[in-house]
Amino acid sequence: MRNISIIGAGQAGLQLGFGLLKAGYKPTVYSDMTPDQILNSSGRPVTIQFGPSLRLEEELDLRFWRENRYCEVQDVYFSVFSPEGEKLVDVNTNFDKAAQSIDLRMKFGRWLEEFERWGGKVVIEKCTIDSMERMTPESDLIVVAAGRGQFMDLFEIDESKMEFEQAQRQVAMFYADKCDLHRQLEGLPDVRQRQVTRYSVINGVGEVMMAPYLTRSGVEKQYIQFEAIPGAGMDIFNRDEDVGAQYEKAKNWLKQHQPLIYQLVEESTTAPENEWVFGKIPPTVRKPVAYLPSGKAVFGVADAVIVNDPVIAQGLNGASKWMGLLLKQIIKHGEKPFTSDWMQSCFDEYWETGQFNNKLTNTALRGPGPLQFKILKAASKNERLAHMFLNCLGEAYKLDPWYWNEVEADRLLDQYGELDS
Ligand SMILES: Cc1cc2nc3c(=O)[nH]c(=O)nc-3n(C[C@H](O)[C@H](O)[C@H](O)COP(=O)(O)OP(=O)(O)OC[C@H]3O[C@@H](n4cnc5c(N)ncnc54)[C@H](O)[C@@H]3O)c2cc1C
Repeated sequence: MRNISIIGAGQAGLQLGFGLLKAGYKPTVYSDMTPDQILNSSGRPVTIQFGPSLRLEEELDLRFWRENRYCEVQDVYFSVFSPEGEKLVDVNTNFDKAAQSIDLRMKFGRWLEEFERWGGKVVIEKCTIDSMERMTPESDLIVVAAGRGQFMDLFEIDESKMEFEQAQRQVAMFYADKCDLHRQLEGLPDVRQRQVTRYSVINGVGEVMMAPYLTRSGVEKQYIQFEAIPGAGMDIFNRDEDVGAQYEKAKNWLKQHQPLIYQLVEESTTAPENEWVFGKIPPTVRKPVAYLPSGKAVFGVADAVIVNDPVIAQGLNGASKWMGLLLKQIIKHGEKPFTSDWMQSCFDEYWETGQFNNKLTNTALRGPGPLQFKILKAASKNERLAHMFLNCLGEAYKLDPWYWNEVEADRLLDQYGELDS
């Protein structure tokens, strides 16, 4: 049986580790933190995970929170506002399969604990290139799943797959309490029985997204994520200021510029932890194969190679689907050597669909253009189209080609009876 070393105990590393374990392999996961340290760490986001990637976790029996209604998000309300606060478009639907919204510290802390309990080998170590060299004699394959900002000198940038050279947003995610995500939806049937995510594009200014989520203590709170275009007015956040004070500042900004969004957070405060996730995230694609000084090829996956701004929630969803595919590729490869050509071909197969996560994210970062507006407006009047469109968030490749091609978009709108209506 092959020896597979996985560096990083996040979405990619652990999902792949569990998959290999279930397939009879004996993978080793290297984590820079113990389960308790992960659970008590700061600076980890809450993520929305869509149906297609949740199915992969279900196949591996990893959805420990499945029965917990606090982490389920059934409906999505997507709106576009003018910079002056006027609502321009509203597109709403339910997800085919409820999305999951959860504090990643709880998810990965529990997963790492379970991985060991299920017979996986865990080594607590902050890996370096030297440690990878040390693993080399006993590893048939080294998978680097150490996330964003790690091993950046090891994996070469691939500009041919990138649209931006710099970060396009100032990102500030707050853990909040007492947001009212059902506000303004009162007329809709049974709406308060359903969990909703609110996604607001503020044209030329940025985005504000909110969703309920399951906290580490097992109760429901909400997160609110500001994606501010630098220099466009909403980039008011500062790493060095108190989180609570910044949250009040953000609320005041909404009150002044976006009163309809403000209504959702009017009564809210930051959750007791008084924490946030803050930064700028340059969208980057790297080459997936790197070589250690000894010449050994290692395989980079997920955020170690492809980093998307979280503006439209593609990172973890993409990582999960990539690992679903990689698991099959490893099993299919049997006892053959894991060469750099094999790694590259595995990546290429993922990129055939994975590239559309980046394309959707980059389109969101540029802001909806006339074509996307036309589609959004049509979807705002047509429930079937809205449903199909918003469910593509979990399978961005299904937006191709019509989300980016006028002729194809018209063909699609015609099918839905919305052309020129
Ligand atoms: C504010 C914000 C909001 C986001 N929201 C969403 C969302 O709603 N939906 C979505 O799909 N994506 C979202 N993302 C992106 C998502 O979190 C990442 O894409 C995803 O977690 C990447 O998975 P990964 O396994 O590559 O890395 P990670 O999940 O970051 O895991 C990497 C792991 O490696 C460990 N590690 C790092 N260095 C070492 C080392 N040297 N040795 C050993 N271990 C190491 C880390 O501790 C970590 O546990 C968001 C990101 C941010 C910043």
